Amino acid sequence: MYNFSAGPATLPHEVVLKAQAELLSFKDSGMSVMEISHRSDLYTTMASEAEQDLRDLMQIPDNYEVLFLQGGATQMFYTLPLNFANQAHRVGYINTGHWSERAEEEARYVSGLTVEEVGSSADQHFTELVHQVTLNGDYDFIHLTTNNTIEGTMYRDLPELDGRTLVADLSSNFLGQIYNVNDFGIIYAGAQKNSGIAGLTVAIVRKDLLEQVPDLPAMLSFSKQAAKHSALNTPPVFAIYMAGLVFKWIKEQGGVAAMQKRNEAKAQLLYEFLDSSNLFRNPVVSADRSTMNIPFVTGDADLDALCVQEATKQGLMSLKGHKSVGGLRASLYNAMTIDGVQALVKFLGEFEKEHG
Ligand code: PMP
Repeated sequence: MYNFSAGPATLPHEVVLKAQAELLSFKDSGMSVMEISHRSDLYTTMASEAEQDLRDLMQIPDNYEVLFLQGGATQMFYTLPLNFANQAHRVGYINTGHWSERAEEEARYVSGLTVEEVGSSADQHFTELVHQVTLNGDYDFIHLTTNNTIEGTMYRDLPELDGRTLVADLSSNFLGQIYNVNDFGIIYAGAQKNSGIAGLTVAIVRKDLLEQVPDLPAMLSFSKQAAKHSALNTPPVFAIYMAGLVFKWIKEQGGVAAMQKRNEAKAQLLYEFLDSSNLFRNPVVSADRSTMNIPFVTGDADLDALCVQEATKQGLMSLKGHKSVGGLRASLYNAMTIDGVQALVKFLGEFEKEHG
């Protein structure tokens, strides 16, 4: 079967097999990785290897800190402005869909902060991205979502921000698309899509920004977390372990460039089918289409539901679209194989013959 879930999502089969093989005795310790102390050498070696592999994969410069945190991307929505919006007390949000709106909403809980929308594609029903933003004056940062998991749009080129600090949610295309880390002040991503399992949130933070963080409760403070190498309290050991296995797997596949190339090929297969179909369609303008999440509809909600149901019977799982947009959605993260996409296209073609 093939799992098209938007997250938690399919993992590379090799990674799951490796975790299974090591489950009872991690590194011949006689203990599983779930049972080792986060103060042991076994843990620190594992966590620093994961960090180094991520640094290699994304070419993260030394002036960036890599943090392994908890609370999901949703917690970042609040803690990022809490930590990093203390100079201008003003932040700009680019609204390209549900998750960027959620980020903006949570920022409004930070007291004394002016939260401005500096661009929005709401009027286009988020079927395209915002490529030009309206900025005037100082902002602590501008926030953007690189891949809109629900709407199926993805930034290839980032908008021009005239030197302002960019903070970006990469949750759904982390390690699936090449970005230059130097273009960002902060990158963050929940691990449960492209880098393992839920419970871990990766943050990559430019070190000079950490110096501006005010005194905050430990768990909410990026600078306190950084000072303790993300082990201020018990970290999500198993999730970090799984991310480490995924990072090694990506390296073996040829790195992020190889992932991106394969993701483009997979996405093209599905988009070509949808664009030539008389039954299904994807509403996103072609230049902004995501390689990771591809929503599509027939235009008839009952037929969409039937299609999901029939697909499930054939082992094509979790194709139901997000409730806010309906229809179907195929998430084609790094771990989805080309065989999976071919099986999906074949099924959709047959469904169209019968119901089109
Ligand atoms: N941002 C994006 C782009 C997402 O896709 C998601 C989850 N679907 C979130 C944030 C929320 O992530 P979490 O559940 O880790 O808080």
